[in-house]
Amino acid sequence: MAQAFKLAALALLLALAACSDSNEATTAEPAAMAPPAAERKATAALPVADTEWAMHGHDAGEQRYSSLQQINRDNVDKLGLAWYFDLYTRRGVESTPLMVDGTLYVTGTWSMVYALDAKTGELKWFYDPQVDRSFLAKGCCGAPNRGVAYANGKVVVATFDGRLVALNAADGSEIWDVQTTDREQSYTITGAPRIGKNLVFIGNGGAELGVRGYVSAYDLDSGKMVWRFYTVPGNPDDGFESDVMAMAAKTWTGKWWEWGGGGTVWDSIVYDPELDLLYIGVGNGSPWNHSLRSPQGGDNLFLASIVALRPDTGEYVWHYQTTPGETWDYTATQHIMLADLEIEGRQRKVLMQAPKNGFFYVIDRASGELLSARPYAITTWATEVDMATGRPVETVDARLFDGKNVSLPSNAGAHNWPPMSYNPETGLVYIPTMVFPVRFLQPTEDKDRKPGQGKWNVGFDRMANSPPKVPNIGEIMDAEFSGQLLAWDPVKQAARWRTPEGRPNGGGTLSTAGKLVFQAGEDDMFNAYDAASGERLWSTDLHISGAAPITYALDGEQYVAIAVGISGGFASEGGPVAHDWHLPSISRVLVYKLGGTAEIPPPPEVDREIPKPAPVTASVEVVQRGEVVYQRHCAYCHGDGFRTGGPTPDLRWSSAQVHGIWQDIVRGGILKSLGMVSFAEFVTEQDAEAIRQYALSEANRIYGLQQPQDTVFQD
Ligand code: CA
Repeated sequence: MAQAFKLAALALLLALAACSDSNEATTAEPAAMAPPAAERKATAALPVADTEWAMHGHDAGEQRYSSLQQINRDNVDKLGLAWYFDLYTRRGVESTPLMVDGTLYVTGTWSMVYALDAKTGELKWFYDPQVDRSFLAKGCCGAPNRGVAYANGKVVVATFDGRLVALNAADGSEIWDVQTTDREQSYTITGAPRIGKNLVFIGNGGAELGVRGYVSAYDLDSGKMVWRFYTVPGNPDDGFESDVMAMAAKTWTGKWWEWGGGGTVWDSIVYDPELDLLYIGVGNGSPWNHSLRSPQGGDNLFLASIVALRPDTGEYVWHYQTTPGETWDYTATQHIMLADLEIEGRQRKVLMQAPKNGFFYVIDRASGELLSARPYAITTWATEVDMATGRPVETVDARLFDGKNVSLPSNAGAHNWPPMSYNPETGLVYIPTMVFPVRFLQPTEDKDRKPGQGKWNVGFDRMANSPPKVPNIGEIMDAEFSGQLLAWDPVKQAARWRTPEGRPNGGGTLSTAGKLVFQAGEDDMFNAYDAASGERLWSTDLHISGAAPITYALDGEQYVAIAVGISGGFASEGGPVAHDWHLPSISRVLVYKLGGTAEIPPPPEVDREIPKPAPVTASVEVVQRGEVVYQRHCAYCHGDGFRTGGPTPDLRWSSAQVHGIWQDIVRGGILKSLGMVSFAEFVTEQDAEAIRQYALSEANRIYGLQQPQDTVFQD
């Protein structure tokens, strides 16, 4: 009997695609930090009623802490749905909504913007920037967007194809639209712009595909570029843009510029009006493999660094590099949070970050001095950070890339894009963490040792992450992968509490004066926890992953809003952590209030009958070759061993029609408009057929497991 099965366990296996993107005085009361966006100035703090969520991270420090407490520890069990709105697309959702003057501004896939009545959910306007879908192949991790910026009646969105667009907040009409990247290269943008001093700051992504990272500032009124800061040096023969680039180039060897160098700033950018500094979080090297990128070694500034710049000019001020000689995709792009902390009897203006590499950093944000760093997760690559030098102490096998040595954190990181939050009352930072092991393997094919701008090339072989051909995949998954919400004391650098282990798909966190922490986490539940103890006080089923919740108040009533969608809790679409592949995706905004009685439709119950696959017609050698080529070129989007996260098809169950036009798709590029561009430059006709045979082989293997006994994949 061809029985339906659930692939939840399978779908969790070995996802790799990593990547994976304020303003007033930090005082003892962070809730008072945020002046209304329209009145933001670079100087004094303007205490306001904390009813809006006008900035990406809520306040100048991006603490994501609201002083609202109508919804609190004692009544959160009465929280119910006020309204929901279904977005028009079904791909990744990573958006933090903004709420300004009664309107909720939410971004969905393909950088689309939805303006919704914050009380009723009624659509006020919708903006589609008409992103060229073939850009999907220029990005590492699908086409999500993490949100808009708001100021002076303008809503600014950065688009997946590298544009920055200013819209009239009242009606969504375009005010200006500028290209911030070279469209011929593999630049994409998923991050939220930030606004400070009437400038819009934006970075980009693409370090897995051979680009050179930078951050740019644009005038909010005109859209004119004011400055650009490159994060890694270019070709010395072209001359350096600045003395700082010449200084950075001394930390590189070889011909890194032919690879791109990387260092993309794809998420965190924070403007600090108190110190008048802009902090940017810089990403990984391109390629990942340091020994290819910089063969004679070197720290490779400013990869994996936090860099402070002058906001008016982009001039360099200081930097701290978290991972010298970065080689594991350990971006320092993760959420940068500002606060005032008392450390050893002194009030310090700090910034905090829990980057992918597993260490929690507290840095004096005026000087860049490292104040403390401790592991918040398992770190197989380094034992500690030497406080005398500020450098990590690497383990002996940190750079052993034999396909067997397990690296933790993986390239997915112990913490990825889902933002943290801080509660000044508990003094805790709430971090969405995950355990996501990976086995790096030095390249086994010559072409992986050469630059290849335009398609994934990280300088490692992926075969070590092809799933084992064993039936008990669920057990392997359970043993290796997990996610937890971690409450971390940044002063003591110690864990206070953790939630039980769940799937590694936890979304961002929200803290409130109601002594609560909100997070969408394991099993697609949206949870409220006691901020002090971690006790779960409320939960509701989202039927999908959630992104980053916010809260606001209107007419005396407090609301909690969250955007949800496939991969909402994780960067990757090729990654399999988010969703059962055979369930239709949901992309939605949900808004809760006390006593809310609205209901979402029941989740679609779809059981897919497995069709009997066509027989394999090639030799074992061809099938094995197909696996190698698939892992090299296809796995980043379609998942290791076909374990797709959902938006990309599971190629094992391709229809006879697809099999019939296989070459036209893989090499001919006939599905370019859906994001599947031609791979003719990289995959020969013979190899494309080998991939097809590998897909058939795996389909038959799974089909065989279903008959006669079908116990393994049930859950
Ligand atoms: Ca990356």
